[in-house]
Amino acid sequence: MNLEYCKPQTLEDLLAETRAGTHLMAGGTDLLVDMRSRKKTVQRIVDIKAIPELRGIRETKSGLEIGACETFTALRESPLVAAWSPALRECADVMGCHEIRHRATLGGNICNSSPGCESGVVLSVHEAQVRIASTRGVRLVPFDTFATGVNRTCLEPDEVVLSIILPKAADSLSFYRRITRTAGMDLACWNGAALVLQPRIPAKRVVRISFGTVMPTPYRPRAAEALLSRRPLTPADMDQAYDLIIREIAPRAGSVRASPAEKKRAIRNFLDELLERLAP
Ligand SMILES: Cc1cc2nc3c(=O)[nH]c(=O)nc-3n(C[C@H](O)[C@H](O)[C@H](O)COP(=O)(O)OP(=O)(O)OC[C@H]3O[C@@H](n4cnc5c(N)ncnc54)[C@H](O)[C@@H]3O)c2cc1C
Repeated sequence: MNLEYCKPQTLEDLLAETRAGTHLMAGGTDLLVDMRSRKKTVQRIVDIKAIPELRGIRETKSGLEIGACETFTALRESPLVAAWSPALRECADVMGCHEIRHRATLGGNICNSSPGCESGVVLSVHEAQVRIASTRGVRLVPFDTFATGVNRTCLEPDEVVLSIILPKAADSLSFYRRITRTAGMDLACWNGAALVLQPRIPAKRVVRISFGTVMPTPYRPRAAEALLSRRPLTPADMDQAYDLIIREIAPRAGSVRASPAEKKRAIRNFLDELLERLAP
């Protein structure tokens, strides 16, 4: 098989090289596995790791901007990530294993768009924005519309993700949970994240929750979020929120990772933990 490989050094060159038939490679931890298993036939790889615009974790006027090529190790070690999003820090802590975290990037994670991808639920509760570039210019897409299905995104063939922006969430509480089949390295069978704005002021509190693997893309239970926001919470509210969520989700019965019953139990436990964390 003839495989063409190039590694542009500037964003301008990268955008000129990106077109239909091109496979961008960041850490390669999904792409190379898909090539080896013949899930993807690849003839042209463009390595994006050398591009400065895809690097860096910085505070900007719009929020915390994370370069698409930042690895999960970088997220784990960043004091800015720890301060802005304990949930993102927790998800980076448990993602894959030491070696994978050193290679795997945040951009690759969202572009691969697997239903249980580690960062999806966290970016969803943060209402993150995805900065996307092509020779036609730069556009911002809300994360919730970026992922369009299993292994599908809104990216056009000539587009590259530059960075992911977490808007400011001052005075907030966030956490991340997952279940896996084995201790150690395994993909999440189910995952969930919560971000609560103004957690100590019940009348102003805004609750955001997102769950992975219960729908093709990270799922925000909007009716349950509305029910749990702007009021003191009781166990009965959690029962009601759980019922609303269970009515909306459609976890696959044939999943090899976790049964629908296990995923529902995980959601129940997650809501109980949320209630505990918000207790006066
Ligand atoms: C052993 C092992 C364990 C794993 N464990 C986990 C786990 O626990 N949790 C988890 O979520 N995942 C896990 N994964 C999957 C994988 O590591 C992650 O999805 C990772 O974040 C992918 O990032 P990458 O940089 O390696 O992406 P790549 O493989 O380089 O790219 C993935 C896809 O995204 C595209 N892409 C990458 N960057 C961009 C960009 N900036 N713009 C446009 N398109 C882009 C590529 O073209 C490709 O289609 C695991 C994989 C392996 C092999």
